[in-house]
Amino acid sequence: MKKITLLGSTGSIGISALDIIEKNPERFCVVALAAGENTELLKKQMEKFHPQIIYVKTKEKAAILKSSLKSNSNIEVLYGKEGIKEVASFPEADIVISAISGAAGLMPTLAAIEAGKDIALANKETMVIAGEIVTRVAKKKGVKILPVDSEHSAIFQCLEGQKMDFLKKIILTASGGPFRKMTKKQLQSVKPKHALKHPNWKMGKKITIDSSSLMNKGLEVIEAKWLFDVQISQIDVLIHPQSIVHSMVEFIDGSILAQMGIPDMRIPIAYALSYPERIKIDLPPLNLIKDGKMEFMKPDTKMFPCLKLAYDAGIAGGTNPAVLNAANEVAVEEFINGKIKFINIPKIIEKVLSLHDAVNDPSLEEIIQADRWAREHAQKIIERKRS
Ligand code: MG
Repeated sequence: MKKITLLGSTGSIGISALDIIEKNPERFCVVALAAGENTELLKKQMEKFHPQIIYVKTKEKAAILKSSLKSNSNIEVLYGKEGIKEVASFPEADIVISAISGAAGLMPTLAAIEAGKDIALANKETMVIAGEIVTRVAKKKGVKILPVDSEHSAIFQCLEGQKMDFLKKIILTASGGPFRKMTKKQLQSVKPKHALKHPNWKMGKKITIDSSSLMNKGLEVIEAKWLFDVQISQIDVLIHPQSIVHSMVEFIDGSILAQMGIPDMRIPIAYALSYPERIKIDLPPLNLIKDGKMEFMKPDTKMFPCLKLAYDAGIAGGTNPAVLNAANEVAVEEFINGKIKFINIPKIIEKVLSLHDAVNDPSLEEIIQADRWAREHAQKIIERKRS
């Protein structure tokens, strides 16, 4: 029986993970759950999965949850910065699913690694902003980091049993998002509701916007660099609108291996949880005869500059990826709030990066400081633009 801690239980990945866990009660059980604000859903999840310890963001929410528990319940309810670390390193767990969205996922994921827990990693920002530190600590602690991101799960599966010496490159696929065919003029007037309609995948808000700007793919390039210990120059991106091939690897002899499947996050989640085994999942099979038409094309980085910004930040390294990510988080939030235009997202990130005095080989404190600095500056630039 694998004992699981789930960080981000009420988000899109969290809900899919609990579906896999619920359907495989002989294999998996939940020992800890952490959510942000959605106490109502968390309460339902508690009643169904009986964790020993839970976390919510604020003291107020924790108090509400506590008062709703039966008097004989011994579930521990935690909150705040220390609370999330305590839940992430809860001793009972064998594996921690890291599915908190954004840079906020870094500290809890690191706490879990420090505690020697294997990680099913859905929070790509952890790798983007602190990949060097995270991979170093994981190695020292003998911790496995199993990718949940569908592209990285695909690459991980394609590399199983292969010698890394023979790898030539990694090819990440991208659906291209809902704006793939738009003209520059059309892009000027897109609204959050348009960006939130992803053609193939059902995901959370932030990542759906990132998919439409191609920043998600850019972050995935940096994530792949650290997860698979390759150079950024060895990672290519191809637009593949059908989302059938979830990514590929190319070897020095010209062979390319691809992993295919329907676009459903339960497949990579189940693989990370059951690795090195596989479990049966009750999903419709990929019908190659009916839906097997596949296209691949070059991404347009003129229309979608976020991808190039991420490549450049990944190559420059140091605190640049943390700044890229933080500025993007602010810009995306303000786009969702209707404060900035979609086409200004990359402009704001570029501006913040250009003002940044990068630190090479940064410590965790320096990364956190760069993240904070970038958020403040992104916000300032946005306010200035609006006034
Ligand atoms: Mg992905």
